[in-house]
Amino acid sequence: MKTKKKIVICLLILTAVACAAVIWILGEKAGTRQMEQSHTDPGTLEVHFLDAGQGDSILVKSEGENLLIDAGTNEDEDMVVSYLKEQGIEKLDYVIATHPHIDHIGGMDAVLETFPVGICFLPEEIYDTESFRDVLTVLEEKHIRTRHPNCMENYKIGSGRFVFVTPDSDRQYEDVNDASLGIRLTNGAHSFLLCGDISREVEKEILASGVLVRSDVMKLNHHGSEDANSWRFLKEVSPSYVVVTCGTRNEFGHPHEKVMERVRKLGAGVFRTDRQGTVVFTSDGKTLTSSREPDEGGKRK
Ligand SMILES: [Zn+2]
Ligand SMILES: [Zn+2]
Repeated sequence: MKTKKKIVICLLILTAVACAAVIWILGEKAGTRQMEQSHTDPGTLEVHFLDAGQGDSILVKSEGENLLIDAGTNEDEDMVVSYLKEQGIEKLDYVIATHPHIDHIGGMDAVLETFPVGICFLPEEIYDTESFRDVLTVLEEKHIRTRHPNCMENYKIGSGRFVFVTPDSDRQYEDVNDASLGIRLTNGAHSFLLCGDISREVEKEILASGVLVRSDVMKLNHHGSEDANSWRFLKEVSPSYVVVTCGTRNEFGHPHEKVMERVRKLGAGVFRTDRQGTVVFTSDGKTLTSSREPDEGGKRK
């Protein structure tokens, strides 16, 4: 009887150990899957243009490093935070608040509260609105490192790099849009130009500065507004694709028809968040793919 009891106990222990092993292996596998979701393949960089209505929010991911440029309006904050979580984002190495307008920094306080942030870039200009004060409060409360970057400052993100092409640190901007922090992001053979809401005036200054702007993908400045996106600037950037971040039937008439005519003349493919929702570009350094076909046009010859 004693031996039988011992055997039963031994069997029970063995079964328990086996079960624990199976649970542990399954758990590890699930964990690995999650890690894979948040990490891009080596050498790969993704640029997500989120559908933030008449606002901007762009996520860049490469090899486990993440950058968020703007966070849409106040109403977008839950969407932006959920999107980042779905993407497996656990920290943001860099955050760029291009300029203090509500359609760019409205959801930023929620993002800064939710995720650990390495460094937050923002323009020097102070703008006295509740939304901007909210952002400054969270930055202070969470002791997040902030920096007013200078033109040509550059940073590594995974397999890519980004360089600030604006603002000119010697200049005070009257129009808040013109103080926008703009970057040119590169990965292998590919480049993206993301310049917030700058106007024609600043486009002119960028060209005069001689900083390299030529890019495969360009976010149209100021949601495709006619006060920006001059023919000279578009020609110099010479994008294969443009992305318009704007709201459906927005009250500003963005993108402006004249701007779209210039884009057509250029022959660039057009992506629009108002018609297509979120658009994702993936670059492995050699091949550039997009999550959708262009809404208009194709790849520039
Ligand atoms: Zn804007
Ligand atoms: Zn603006």
